[in-house]
Amino acid sequence: MAYKPYTHDVLIKNSNEILYDAEINLEQDKIVGFSSGAPGPKRFKSIVLPGLINMHSHLCFSKIKLDSQNLFSWLKDLVTESQKPEFLPSEQVSQGIQESLSYGTTFVVENTNYPFETSRALIDSGIKALMGIEIFGSDPNFAQKIFQEKIALLDSLPKDKNIFYALSPHATYDVSALLWKFCLEWSQKNNRLLLSHISESLAEEKWFSDHDSAESQLAKEFWASINSLEAKLDNWKKYKSSFDFLLQSNLLDSNLLLTHGVYLSEQELDLIQQYQIKLVTCPRSNEYLLNDQADIKNWQNKKIQFALGTDSKASNHDLDLREELKHLTHDLSSQEKFEMITIKAATMLGLDSEIGSLEQFKSADFVVLEILDLNNYQDLRNIDIFALALDNKKTRVREVFVNGSLVYKF
Ligand SMILES: [Zn+2]
Repeated sequence: MAYKPYTHDVLIKNSNEILYDAEINLEQDKIVGFSSGAPGPKRFKSIVLPGLINMHSHLCFSKIKLDSQNLFSWLKDLVTESQKPEFLPSEQVSQGIQESLSYGTTFVVENTNYPFETSRALIDSGIKALMGIEIFGSDPNFAQKIFQEKIALLDSLPKDKNIFYALSPHATYDVSALLWKFCLEWSQKNNRLLLSHISESLAEEKWFSDHDSAESQLAKEFWASINSLEAKLDNWKKYKSSFDFLLQSNLLDSNLLLTHGVYLSEQELDLIQQYQIKLVTCPRSNEYLLNDQADIKNWQNKKIQFALGTDSKASNHDLDLREELKHLTHDLSSQEKFEMITIKAATMLGLDSEIGSLEQFKSADFVVLEILDLNNYQDLRNIDIFALALDNKKTRVREVFVNGSLVYKF
């Protein structure tokens, strides 16, 4: 169903430009302009804003509920759950997509172990995505073989204008430096971000600094459960931290999109800035797995590019980006928060000429919010409209459009 112009009370084009009593005009899948509408009878009091961007998800784990616990025991439970016969990847992904759309998300960065099911569900739903195929493999002797298999798999996935494919080596503690190198070279050649997790937990950092610690024991139990890494420990002994692995392996590159970054040192953050590496924070997932939170104020001071993700629902309560924003440890202005889930994320993806704000010739990806709080409605021109638009209690997602087509309706 295509979009029919309505006069909206507020139309947020970007973090600097707001229109009142305005219509958004489309031609097929693009925005062609805006006009001021005559205030008249309305369906509901509405705010329109650009489609939201979730920079880190695993929609393939959207129906699994795991206990709040340490990263490595959580990973072990996740593997157990995903091996049960009732685990159906297509169902998991579809549920995750529907939930994402219901929260106004029109673009997801997805990391998946189930590329076929995930790409099919993404394409069928109309949502846009950068889909990374997750890669594991700690033994460098198998790096070439694993890489070639993943590339063959990627080449066989269905093509669609809404979906970009990428590689997602899982982390620096379970993918060999050689396999990382192959993945990075492919990403550079194909101009794609390389997705991964970095410095998510203390246990992970302990793993690098002290293989014999009590925390590392949990990691070893996880490896044993997936028959990985044993006897490969020596390959990791020279690295001091999860990030030092990348540094020593000459893997620092502006194509890296790294999620979490909770325990990065000052020097490591300086290198991240220097190499224009992009970071993603997932505050509720960090809480869920009993970790600290990323120091985003420091990231901001260092002028590091960063955005927001929910991570999987198996380590979060829901996939609501507006809820996620409430859990940032450092209070940003409502405009900065808005940018984090719109234009800044789009810029990190290299897609800011297409998405991330509502401008002429950009994609018609937008969210129609209903204002539930009438007191706010009365003085819309005098309030912080970004705060209202980000408030998931005072406003509710009524409709979501991608490429000018309705993909979700409340
Ligand atoms: Zn993740």
